[in-house]
Amino acid sequence: MTQQMPTLFVSHGPPTLAILDAPAATFLKELGARLPRPRAILCISAHWEAWRPTVSGPAAPSTIHDFGGPPQLFDLHYPAPGNPALAGRVVELLKAGGLDAGIDLERGLDHGAWVPLRLIYPEADIPVLQVSIQTETDPAHHFALGRAVAPLRKEGVLILGSGGATHNLPEIQGHRMTGPPVDYAEAFDAWLEEAIRDGQTESLLNYEAEGPYAARNHPWPAEHFLPLFAPLGASGEGVAGRPLHRSFMYGLLSMAAYRWDG
Ligand code: ZN
Repeated sequence: MTQQMPTLFVSHGPPTLAILDAPAATFLKELGARLPRPRAILCISAHWEAWRPTVSGPAAPSTIHDFGGPPQLFDLHYPAPGNPALAGRVVELLKAGGLDAGIDLERGLDHGAWVPLRLIYPEADIPVLQVSIQTETDPAHHFALGRAVAPLRKEGVLILGSGGATHNLPEIQGHRMTGPPVDYAEAFDAWLEEAIRDGQTESLLNYEAEGPYAARNHPWPAEHFLPLFAPLGASGEGVAGRPLHRSFMYGLLSMAAYRWDG
């Protein structure tokens, strides 16, 4: 029998994480060896939004360079295969979970997926699928999305949310990459760790009211926070998670990562 996979949330930071020497990059490079080897990866990234949960269907997804940045980033590719049959199964599970869902046969891998995965699994030999987020919905919707695909964990599929534990991008100007964290980001980051450690699902779902400076850390539409609720939902109500990594980039991007084994 296949070992039940943990679920994960990682903060992917700036696209340059792919080439930077940063604590979060070092953490990701060491993460793959700490996990049971998955049969496939289902990534819920901040950088794919669609009006309904949409699953990437290509057998050979392209690498999407959906950012501005230094030229060498555009030379990087992540040639992991897809898995069309599994994509069909994900759609079935989402529908069985009461969600409208579809497949996108053209969709490649955005940088929210391939930048961390290239660090975690540099061989690019594990099939990767993505599911889109819906920013016009709420955390509970993404929690339900995670619940719906939870059976895949017993089939060796790693459910990976990729976003940012804090992500006040509009105020990033003037912050140094290695500068100390700003107070409001540190406060939210600490609250998040405690809520995850204690398995406070209701508080997490209600983060806009309960998390300190929530709106400043996750300005509307909070697209970098919503991916956290999919691995949370796939682990289950009230399940405690473990922090795997804490660091900051540019003072306001928390690079925190979490794991749930429930
Ligand atoms: Zn991002």
